[in-house]
Amino acid sequence: MATHNKTSNSIGTAQVHWDENGLPYSTHFNDIYFSKDDGIAESRYVFLNANSLAERWDSRTINSAFTIGETGFGTGLNFLLAWQLWNKRQHNKNAQLHFISVEKYPLSKNDLTKALALWPELKAFSQQLINAYPPQPLQGLHRLNFFDDRVSLTLSFGDAAEGFQQLAPISKAGPNVSSTPCSIGSAPPQIDAWFLDGFAPSKNPEMWNDALFSAIKTLSAKGSTFATFTAASAVRKQLISIGFDCQKIKGFGRKREMLIGEWLSTPEHKHKSTEADNQSTHTHFRDHKQQKLDAEPAWHLNAIPPTKKVEHCIVIGGGLAGCHTAFALAKKNIRVTLLEKNNALALEASGNRQGVVYAKLSPHDSPLNTFNLAALLYASQFYHSQGFYDKCGDPCGVLHLATNDNLRAQYQEFCEIFRESPGFFRWLAAEECEAISGVPSTFPALYLPQTGWLSPAPLCKQLVKNERIQIRTEAKVSRLQNDGSQWEITFSSGSNGSPTNKTETICADAVVLANAHAASEIEQSQYLPLKRIRGQVSHIPSTAASSQLRRVICGDGYIAPALNNTHSLGATFNLHEFGEELTDKDHQQNLGKLAGLSPALTPSTTTPSDLDGKVGFRCTTPDYFPIVGSVADYSAMTERFAFLRKKANAVIDNHGAYHPQLYANLGHGARGLCYAPLASEVLASAISGQFLPVSRELYRHMSPGRFIIRDLMRNKI
Ligand code: SAM
Repeated sequence: MATHNKTSNSIGTAQVHWDENGLPYSTHFNDIYFSKDDGIAESRYVFLNANSLAERWDSRTINSAFTIGETGFGTGLNFLLAWQLWNKRQHNKNAQLHFISVEKYPLSKNDLTKALALWPELKAFSQQLINAYPPQPLQGLHRLNFFDDRVSLTLSFGDAAEGFQQLAPISKAGPNVSSTPCSIGSAPPQIDAWFLDGFAPSKNPEMWNDALFSAIKTLSAKGSTFATFTAASAVRKQLISIGFDCQKIKGFGRKREMLIGEWLSTPEHKHKSTEADNQSTHTHFRDHKQQKLDAEPAWHLNAIPPTKKVEHCIVIGGGLAGCHTAFALAKKNIRVTLLEKNNALALEASGNRQGVVYAKLSPHDSPLNTFNLAALLYASQFYHSQGFYDKCGDPCGVLHLATNDNLRAQYQEFCEIFRESPGFFRWLAAEECEAISGVPSTFPALYLPQTGWLSPAPLCKQLVKNERIQIRTEAKVSRLQNDGSQWEITFSSGSNGSPTNKTETICADAVVLANAHAASEIEQSQYLPLKRIRGQVSHIPSTAASSQLRRVICGDGYIAPALNNTHSLGATFNLHEFGEELTDKDHQQNLGKLAGLSPALTPSTTTPSDLDGKVGFRCTTPDYFPIVGSVADYSAMTERFAFLRKKANAVIDNHGAYHPQLYANLGHGARGLCYAPLASEVLASAISGQFLPVSRELYRHMSPGRFIIRDLMRNKI
């Protein structure tokens, strides 16, 4: 469990000195980022050519993905060159390049921009990287997709070994975990080529440690290669001990030697302990307490990995979660049939005129705060890079008003942490809020210049515009059945209650439930504790004063700049009300919230009963985390973890019991616009057997299996 330390989410930025030739030099490591003679030629020679990338990409049709793992992202030069080469060599539009890089001391955006300006020939690529570069100093995983998602970069900010360990489905198998492969979704992802960069082992011995080599072993595919600029014998010994055949070749320029090799190990070798593992095994036996700490829960992993690659997936539900899921799956070359019970997409909770891309931001490092921040950053980049803000909204910026002392302290602290990234988060005094928003403000605010509002229904339509996605509306699913190799979905088609309704079935390799509360009507997902929370949005005509509003304002409630002379304000939260009609009481409440945010924007003569609006039912969860991942097999899971009823603090290192290839993307509450892009990328990555864009810890927090584990621990079931 993560502690609630403040700022432990943050890491240091690189201390870069710019030498007399305008080249970056690390004062921390006393080493250069790249060759003084020719950085590009050096990178190509040491990493691209020595891993035979051009030959491998030419000679082999890559149908799905090729994954590179790198230690030390630095200026991103290696990544940009790999991307450039991929563009030249890979003409199969379905093939994807995944580049995963770890970096303990990320360059500031300014230093990155300065370093990449050295390579005008890479400008088309580097500008995209600079635009998408995450804020500093933020630890953890960041997924950036480029080139119509055919190139994806997963940046792990933090120590190399930890970063790669977090990418494996599990780091250490506890005593009860079988040695058979387990999975998050499809087969565990692996690395095809390693760029072992990082400063020289003599200058940076901490990075080249046993844990790093152990992680490399876990993640290497048979036939995966490595290349590194160093020829240090300690590195060579470690690489041999984890199963690489190692060769010394001539180094770049004046360098005498460097190392290359191929991972020849058989799967058995993976389970045989090596020098790197022995080191940690000794620690295990020395200290039983430590062993307990190291045993990591494995209940979120499926004990039975699917045998079949997913080519066709059914997504149930055509709101934000379903449409985002369909989009992410289609980008990973999976054919999707989306079933929606209504006669159009986004008619229910996702049907507001304007929705805010909103996350709860806090300087405290809790898993939910980490998820909120990660989701917001991913969503911002996603909507900008896919052009969705242009098509269905406005990235006008969002002001999170600090309406009380507590919020003021929190937001100020948050902005202080991110003071090097004012392009993402900025503290504004009340006068500055006024200047930037166009309307008087009595409060200071946390300002997010890159986010804004979107119209969910047009967005959903845009998301599913893809030849791989087929939409079936008026398709109400009643039953799912697995015949051992695929899912059969039974649904009634035709408008509700119509005499022409008929029952149909459709088959697919995988199913994603993105149907909010309706998931409770499906047998396999009945156990999920989904809550319905009614929310009413009010639409008010703009006034001379309110038409000046240029930013979204959030606090207790929100107001967006006028769209077609009408503002959306919202929203109410009614846990125990289920009426679908608009109520004056809720309109009144929304107007009251607006008066709290901005008296200047509050209309003086509005009659609530004259107002239009929208009622929706948010789907939420008891812990406020969305539900993303494999759907647990309730009875098998309760049986397997029954011991938790007697001993809640027992180490849970059994694998879980999950329905094969049945997934959920549910419970986004009022934050679908913000949560659904990352949640869908997580799910599509799991389904297509790619590395996840979130840590194992966050994935466990989202897992549909968590409720069963918690309820057993609390002796509730
Ligand atoms: N590959 C880079 C490029 O294309 O620009 C150059 C990498 S530079 C020579 C080495 C990088 O390794 C530095 O950015 C440094 O901060 C990073 N590094 C050093 N120790 C590390 C560690 N323990 N974990 C992750 N990254 C580390």
